[in-house]
Amino acid sequence: MGITADRRMVRRALRALVVGAALSLLICVRAQAAVICLDPGHGGIGTTGAGAYYPPYMEKVLNFAVASQVKAELEQAGHTVYMTRNGDVSLDLDQRAAYAKSVGADLLISIHFNSSGAHDKYGSEVWTSMYGGHRTTGYALGNSILSQLAGLGFVSKGAKTKLGNSGDYYGIIRHGVSYGIPTIIVEHCFMDNVIDRAILESKGYTALAHADAVGITNYLNSVGGVVPKSDPVVFAEGSTAGGGVGVASSTAASDPYKTKYGFAKDALGNVTYVDPAGSSMVFTAAEWNKLLGNWSYTSDAEACLKQQTLEVLKVLLSR
Ligand SMILES: [Zn+2]
Repeated sequence: MGITADRRMVRRALRALVVGAALSLLICVRAQAAVICLDPGHGGIGTTGAGAYYPPYMEKVLNFAVASQVKAELEQAGHTVYMTRNGDVSLDLDQRAAYAKSVGADLLISIHFNSSGAHDKYGSEVWTSMYGGHRTTGYALGNSILSQLAGLGFVSKGAKTKLGNSGDYYGIIRHGVSYGIPTIIVEHCFMDNVIDRAILESKGYTALAHADAVGITNYLNSVGGVVPKSDPVVFAEGSTAGGGVGVASSTAASDPYKTKYGFAKDALGNVTYVDPAGSSMVFTAAEWNKLLGNWSYTSDAEACLKQQTLEVLKVLLSR
């Protein structure tokens, strides 16, 4: 064998190596790719279908802006992404889920922002199905997203399930899992609450969208890009579906991150009190309880407490 033949062999071997590496890279990228359907919640001309509306924020607009950015970021990561609506249109919940089914979605992720009547609730939360593999997937995906949102400063209220009269309480989840698609609702934060709004405004909605994209990507990486298949869960409308995993459903009443009159309470029970003049002070749980004790003879101690100035409360504390 001459020198030329040697070189030819080396070249051939090198070429095989390069092609092999390129192929394995392709397979690697393929294995990571998933089909994701994003559902920007609500929609419809004007304030019709606005969702939560707390000027200047209209939920449908925020939902759409966040979903659009999540789509772009996930596509950049090699995933195939669809959106249930590409404009300000009204869709019912089954239309959204049916669309996800029609595009062969592995996951249906409904994007929302929250608000509460008394503007006193805050934090991020994810709702998932109570049933079978949908629950496992929803919890893992939801917590992955929530950990990213917590990194921005939002309190994570966890991934939760809620049971209604016909299976899962939330329609988009009920319809999604009836098509066999693990479905979650991401409630990013309460856009009408001072605590959440401060974070939303300082970080910007783009940071929230990025948090979603990272959370979703981390989840997909954790399952090798292959979302476990879950059987469709068919609910008989008007009846309570059986077969739910024994998980207590969460209700607003058990929400620990608020006090009755909207004074923010952190995980340790420290309460941020804002008096009628707008001055604020943080009380420890023990201090707060001591203050409430001043009106223990009434049925609503907090209602009495909230009428006091900070000066009065300081005096009461020192006694
Ligand atoms: Zn909503």
